Amino acid sequence: MTEYTRRESRAIHVGKVQIGGNAPISIQSMTNTDTYDHKATLEQVKRLEQAGCDVVRITVPTPEAAKCIAYIKEAGVTVPLVADIHFDYRAALYALEAGVDKIRINPGNIGSEDRVRELAEAARRRGVPIRIGVNSGSLEKSILAKHGAPTAAALCESAMFHTALLEKYDFRDIAISIKASSVMTTIEANRLLAKTCNYPIHIGVTEAGGEGMGTIKSAIGIGTLLAEGIGDTVRVSLTADPVKEIAAARNILDAVGLSSTPHLNIVSCPTCGRTRIGLIDLLAKLEAAVESEGLRSVPITVALMGCAVNGPGEAREADIGVAGGDGDALLFYKGVTAGKIPQDMIVPRLIEEIKKFKA
Ligand code: SF4
Repeated sequence: MTEYTRRESRAIHVGKVQIGGNAPISIQSMTNTDTYDHKATLEQVKRLEQAGCDVVRITVPTPEAAKCIAYIKEAGVTVPLVADIHFDYRAALYALEAGVDKIRINPGNIGSEDRVRELAEAARRRGVPIRIGVNSGSLEKSILAKHGAPTAAALCESAMFHTALLEKYDFRDIAISIKASSVMTTIEANRLLAKTCNYPIHIGVTEAGGEGMGTIKSAIGIGTLLAEGIGDTVRVSLTADPVKEIAAARNILDAVGLSSTPHLNIVSCPTCGRTRIGLIDLLAKLEAAVESEGLRSVPITVALMGCAVNGPGEAREADIGVAGGDGDALLFYKGVTAGKIPQDMIVPRLIEEIKKFKA
């Protein structure tokens, strides 16, 4: 296995979730309901939690909107909530009073230093961390003028500018995110940030697009950084139902071997002119059966291979594997051949075998 070193970062605690300090990489998302519609927002928070979201962010544009945080907390939801604040620092103070678990705000945007101090003190009193979130689309004019464009260096400078405002009041319960719609800028900026400080880093590619391209951009941006040991929590941003962000984030973490939850790993070949069984259909049926039977968390590798060329090798390496023949397949169990199965029995047999590994 390739050596993997994770960047050392300070730990912060967002409700019951630790971010940084070598904690498992958590998955975040954000509601897209109207925050004033408490019921709809609560329902979406619950759907996100059920899908495996570790931390849910909610936009809180005004002090009045902070009531939604209290409403969700009173409903008994335990997934930690983050209030997303832009300019109205009073909204942050109200969200803190409502029991929010983290504030996302850029202190440089809220006006006087007195306000920054008041916010830092209120957050400290409640043990609530603050995320500084720098975005390529909303960089300070002065930094933009200095760098000429929202470059990686400009984004990092902005993040450290906001961080220094909190540090001035000895507030260090901080997470930082730097997001750009450009994958390469996101990667470069986060590499720079990782070298500049030891605060935990929230990573994501912003405005990544729809489910298809957005997932690809996120997989490259987030995946590259995670593979380099950078990143403590992730958000995939999709123009889609936010619940889809959770599956995408989980798949990215699974792909780089950093998922905190056990999962079934399916290895399957792309098929070619040698394939003599309906492998594409078999894979779709296997994936559907794994979901419907609740077997996604079985921590084994299952190989579904199309022929006897590369098939037996991969199938033998897996916990359970099949190498396709002509209308049938050879089954491997822990590297040992276990007989032939007719094509229509492959999925039921694999499901039967996977169930044996279920704790
Ligand atoms: S395993 Fe066999 S069928 Fe699948 S792509 Fe490779 S050669 Fe083709």
